Amino acid sequence: MAEQTPIVIIGSGLAGYSLAREFRKLDKQSPLMLITRDDGASYSKPMLSTGFTKGKDAEALMMSSAAKMAEQLTLSVRTHCEVERIDASSRTLFLDDGEQQYNKLILATGASVNKIKFPGSDLNGVVSINDLNDYRNFRALATGKKKILIMGAGLIGCEYANDLLIGGYEIEIIDPSPAPLNGLIPNEAGKAVLKGLSDAGVNFHLGRSISEIQETNSGLCATLDNGETLEGDLIISAIGLRPNTRLAETAGLACRHGIQVDRSLQTSNPNIYALGDGAEVDGHVMLYVLPLMASARALAKTLAGEPTQVHYGVMPVATKTPACPVIVSPPLTNEGSWRFESDGLNVKGLFEDEQGELTGFVLTGDCIAEKQMLAKQIKGIHDN
Ligand SMILES: Cc1cc2nc3c(=O)[nH]c(=O)nc-3n(C[C@H](O)[C@H](O)[C@H](O)COP(=O)(O)OP(=O)(O)OC[C@H]3O[C@@H](n4cnc5c(N)ncnc54)[C@H](O)[C@@H]3O)c2cc1C
Repeated sequence: MAEQTPIVIIGSGLAGYSLAREFRKLDKQSPLMLITRDDGASYSKPMLSTGFTKGKDAEALMMSSAAKMAEQLTLSVRTHCEVERIDASSRTLFLDDGEQQYNKLILATGASVNKIKFPGSDLNGVVSINDLNDYRNFRALATGKKKILIMGAGLIGCEYANDLLIGGYEIEIIDPSPAPLNGLIPNEAGKAVLKGLSDAGVNFHLGRSISEIQETNSGLCATLDNGETLEGDLIISAIGLRPNTRLAETAGLACRHGIQVDRSLQTSNPNIYALGDGAEVDGHVMLYVLPLMASARALAKTLAGEPTQVHYGVMPVATKTPACPVIVSPPLTNEGSWRFESDGLNVKGLFEDEQGELTGFVLTGDCIAEKQMLAKQIKGIHDN
């Protein structure tokens, strides 16, 4: 492999750019290239669900253009360029407009939104918002509109609901679960979020799903599985994310829930690494910012010549739902039980294992003030 063949990062999300930034702190010389199928703008994805709260549209959320990032990080950036296939034996990427050799390859290819198909699910006003471009399109569509339906009461659905409420929209959420944030927090805490968002004005349809969407003269009409109909101008689909593994599979890399890597972020091929939403690190897919930042710091050291494993420490997840804020540190295993203290919007849930040791917690409302104290008491997430 020629000396000047670059280290290539695929993906310009937080994982791709964080790695480039961390690597440049350690190595100012080695050629570095970043390839992305989008426009390469640097932005913080978590801010997409606080656009109205913070008064920022898509342009205001963009932190730097691809050209500025290239200059700042002495990086060659190729935008609007899809990597279609990897040949690991010759270390070649097949792009939609040619080929590119790599010395080391890093997959920072993220996750895609889940889609379910039913009559009307692909109508124009049914959208999902998972990047800055989606957000730009959504803001254009939402201008002058009044009522938005949200499919999915998970973290992303609830955050968009709260933000759009602040933006002056009428909101209805539809979800088959008995309480919001199902799967992330226990229902005892989910009920506080239900109360907080409902009191603020969100209408929930829990235990229900949409079976059909039709266009009407004024917008869209969703029919629920109990026959009830809901009118809205737009429908946001927020039913979860799935790590992108297709490209990795073209290289024959081991994939399960995500691209499988060890604690060094190395895939089943020694010249290819993965981090961020697309990676399954030591068996865990973690679709959050803190794990990818820890991964970027560790991988930058490895690429700069100091083999390093990632360690996470305690990383509670905070929701951006001011109507009822939540902080959760999910338990490491199911072995143990929850104990709750609750008072309306304020819930404190502690998960203790059979030895009585704290292995997870959930806090809502005013109880979030106890985060620091509890975070000190529990074992680091997924650190064995
Ligand atoms: C609304 C919302 C709110 C969130 N809030 C929080 C929060 O409060 N806290 C938190 O910790 N996390 C939050 N998250 C999650 C967090 O934003 C993600 O974990 C993180 O942004 C993922 O970054 P990434 O770089 O791994 O993936 P992405 O940002 O998805 O980047 C993937 C990149 O890969 C490129 N790409 C993919 N395939 C190819 C290909 N074949 N060829 C070329 N380019 C390719 C894409 O164009 C893109 O540039 C939120 C997510 C959303 C959607």
